[in-house]
Amino acid sequence: MSLSLGTLGMYSQNSTIPSSVKNVEAKVDSVLNLMTLEEKVGQMIQYNGSWDLTGPASETGNKQKEERLKNGLVGSMLNVLSVEATEKAQRMNMENSRIKIPLIFGYDVIHGYKTIFPVPLAETASWDMAAAEESARIAALESVAEGVNWTFSPMIDISRDARWGRIMEGSGEDPYLTSKVAVAKVKGYQGDDLSDPRTIAATAKHFAGYGLAEGGKDYNAVNIGKNELHNVVLPPFKAAADAGVATFMNSFNTVDGIPATGSEYLQREILKGDWNWNGFMVSDWGSIAEMIPHGFAKDKIHAAEIAVKAGSDMDMEGGAYEAGLEKLVAEGKLDEALIDDAVKRILRVKFKMGLFEDPYKYNNAELLATVPYEEHRATARDIAKKSIVLLKNENDLLPIKSSVKKIAVIGPLADDKDSPIGNWRAQGEANSAVSVLEGLKNANLDAEITYAQGVKLGMGERSFLMPLEINKTDTTGIGEAVENAKNAELVIMVLGEDAFQAGEGRSQVNIGLAGLQKELLKAIYKVNQNIMLVLINGRPMEITWSSENIPAIVEAWQLGTESGNAIADVLSGKYNPSGKLPVSFPRAVGQEPLYYNHKNTGRPSSAEHVTYSHYTDIENGPLYPFGYGLSYSNFEYGKPELSGSELKAGESIALTVPVTNAGEVKGREVVQLYLRDLVASSTRPVKELKGFQLIDLEPGETKNVEFTIDEEMLKFYTASEKWEAENGEFELMIGGDSEEVQTVKFNFSK
Ligand code: BGC
Repeated sequence: MSLSLGTLGMYSQNSTIPSSVKNVEAKVDSVLNLMTLEEKVGQMIQYNGSWDLTGPASETGNKQKEERLKNGLVGSMLNVLSVEATEKAQRMNMENSRIKIPLIFGYDVIHGYKTIFPVPLAETASWDMAAAEESARIAALESVAEGVNWTFSPMIDISRDARWGRIMEGSGEDPYLTSKVAVAKVKGYQGDDLSDPRTIAATAKHFAGYGLAEGGKDYNAVNIGKNELHNVVLPPFKAAADAGVATFMNSFNTVDGIPATGSEYLQREILKGDWNWNGFMVSDWGSIAEMIPHGFAKDKIHAAEIAVKAGSDMDMEGGAYEAGLEKLVAEGKLDEALIDDAVKRILRVKFKMGLFEDPYKYNNAELLATVPYEEHRATARDIAKKSIVLLKNENDLLPIKSSVKKIAVIGPLADDKDSPIGNWRAQGEANSAVSVLEGLKNANLDAEITYAQGVKLGMGERSFLMPLEINKTDTTGIGEAVENAKNAELVIMVLGEDAFQAGEGRSQVNIGLAGLQKELLKAIYKVNQNIMLVLINGRPMEITWSSENIPAIVEAWQLGTESGNAIADVLSGKYNPSGKLPVSFPRAVGQEPLYYNHKNTGRPSSAEHVTYSHYTDIENGPLYPFGYGLSYSNFEYGKPELSGSELKAGESIALTVPVTNAGEVKGREVVQLYLRDLVASSTRPVKELKGFQLIDLEPGETKNVEFTIDEEMLKFYTASEKWEAENGEFELMIGGDSEEVQTVKFNFSK
């Protein structure tokens, strides 16, 4: 049965839904049946709400957009950022349009909305999936309270290249870990029921391959084949799809010569076909029209045709669908059924969000008034401290001893309240983080603290996509910093990256300490070697000199609002660090792309042979490997035991390892399980993460950690293009990082 326009209007006035249209699919069909082609195309258009929607539109373009809103010819808006503005836009649409289909409002809520959490790469270093879910739940609540009901997150692009500035937005180099984060984030944002007004629709992005841009250069071509695509890039997306993520976003890049946005293989065949996913695909910003400069479409109309056929359902601020779709259908070049499919997907999400019952449900003053921001800050601090990775701690310099009475805090980021907020900061305000200096003061250490900036880092106006100026000449502050260091027992140096060194369009060929930071560090080192180096950064950095010379190094990333307090928690010993790297740290940028789960060559590393695959001018391997991180405790691994050495299809065996806290303080260890398939129909990585468990241990306590090994764990995209396990011999490796492992073997047969 179709709904009449009157009935549809009733949806928006009150929640009386005719009993015959209780299920979402029936509702979707009923609405679709009422729509003209123009209205259907309208649903597939998303506008950037960059003008002041609360006042009169002043520019012609914006007036035209408002006209389309009033005519019900827009499906969604992005970057509309207040209750008033979303309400106004929704009213323009609902009160004037013929068909009254509510808008959804999208925004990049990447690591918090007002309360800013660690950037995703940092948060992943906690390996704490409950934390990842909780920060998403909080971000959702803070967003919906201000009218935003759709986030373009999580970003689950595997990235192996620290030069790529967007590595900060993802979960690093591992498909398994990223898949776990994907599921946690989807659950956190969407809850159990998208119609709950405290939840927000999530987006799995960027589909696909965007993180493997050649040379780490943003937007660059991705030259991988099916093996890499299916085994490395796609698993996190499959996990997000299975977790019920409402939307996907495609990507700017080409994959093996085909723009992802125009890829029928990726979108129709895999995602909507094989995976049977029924949400909708939004393009990335203008990525449909970008197929023109790619040399894949001759004009916007052609681009629109390619994108719709490939399965891109909504055009983000690209103007291609607006320009092309109706014309294409009228000329018989495009089957309207493809448009119908896209519109149904969009309507389905809107229905699931409960927008037809109440399009203004997100403009909820009551909800806004009760958002517990203080509690959110406490959670942000907790997650931030768990995201910190202790890289080096010679002579137990850390935590700060009570005998230390004079501390010099030095560095361009030491009292920087902005860089810890990181890029993609949503409504997190500039200069709103607790700085390291403030955090140390809040910690009330029984020591005198001096501060000197030493050198400046980022200069001038700093914002998203603006070129960033780095100080390369002003050394005037170094003298004062050196004096402070001379007079101190301990120096805490805070160095790293400006917030806007990482992020979109922020690829770099140098990933060391930029500007004059190295000069400052060396000047301090000359007068006082008792240095704790705290790094604030969005990407893995090249810190080989520091690693060879500085006794203690703490990777503190960009931790968000509570950054300084969390760092002080770790430096003071209030929290025993437990983070582990979700990315490999290189010895030199020339090693990039660098990742632990690489394939072997025919010339594997060996001490006797000089012809193995390596660079001749540097030690092989990473400076700090994937999964690495120290603690103030010392975890000892006993002998791993397998319950059997023959695994049969449909059965499982157990791997157990005792882990003891041999240190003097309680601590948390991330026990990691890796697998290698020794001989397979296509070559397999030297190891791949297959499981991890967080355990909390009191001093002297031992826990037996058990992992279940079954056929599922062995599956990969084989040479016969199937996701399946192959018979043969396997190695299991277990330990506290990807290098320090113990190995056991078993056989699998079907
Ligand atoms: C980015 C996306 C983002 C979109 C909307 C694009 O430039 O690639 O990740 O969601 O802009 O802001």
